[in-house]
Amino acid sequence: MNNLTMDSYFENNHLDDFESEPDEVLSTFPTHNQWGELLFDANGNMPLSLEEQELMIKRLEQKFIEVMEILRISRRDPNSTKTPLRIARMLVKELFAGRYQEAPKSTVFPNRKKVNELIISKGITVMSVCSHHWQPISGDCAIGYIPNKYVLGVSKLSRIVDWFCRRGQIQEELGEQIADYIEDLIKPKALGVVIRARHYCMIARGVKGNEENSLMITSVMRGYLLADLNLRNEFLNLIGMGYVK
Ligand SMILES: [Zn+2]
Repeated sequence: MNNLTMDSYFENNHLDDFESEPDEVLSTFPTHNQWGELLFDANGNMPLSLEEQELMIKRLEQKFIEVMEILRISRRDPNSTKTPLRIARMLVKELFAGRYQEAPKSTVFPNRKKVNELIISKGITVMSVCSHHWQPISGDCAIGYIPNKYVLGVSKLSRIVDWFCRRGQIQEELGEQIADYIEDLIKPKALGVVIRARHYCMIARGVKGNEENSLMITSVMRGYLLADLNLRNEFLNLIGMGYVK
């Protein structure tokens, strides 16, 4: 892309919301940071040792001190004194923890009774952060599957969802990542992952037409749930998608 097309690209795409840039531009960004460490997607995962996480927190704290200075927020304000460290810890240990921690242990049990019906878990908490603005995404998730040779413990599902939520996400990819993971783990005959969530980047910024009640709903359907309309309707009825609050 030459400069002229680049200019018109940016003109035509108001950078107000910073749409994704074309691949030619993306490929110019670095692959490693200033310490030679590999960079990876916001919703990716690379387990780090506790020492590496502590080092990350120290580096971040220094950067957030600078951020506060740029924003001209005084750390003499007692409410702001430890904010850089607090934000650094929150990012590494909480909001983005799923990037740096191993996947939760998922015990798989044999499907001894040859269950051939939908197994559904709903109301699983979704508490994530949008990759675009680093604002909360808050909602819930329903997962349904028809087992093949294996079933999963119910508590495992919420741990898997939480692990994928604890990173910068976009809701569409969050659902796909959860589905891919469960598919790899138990190879179910049918699998559905429905997420409904509020995006605080819309709410907090007052984006027009996205009032507080607006919900984003994404659904991923695999196997029989993709092919069989009756089964899909049964699933959607059982998770109560007929009366979304
Ligand atoms: Zn956002």
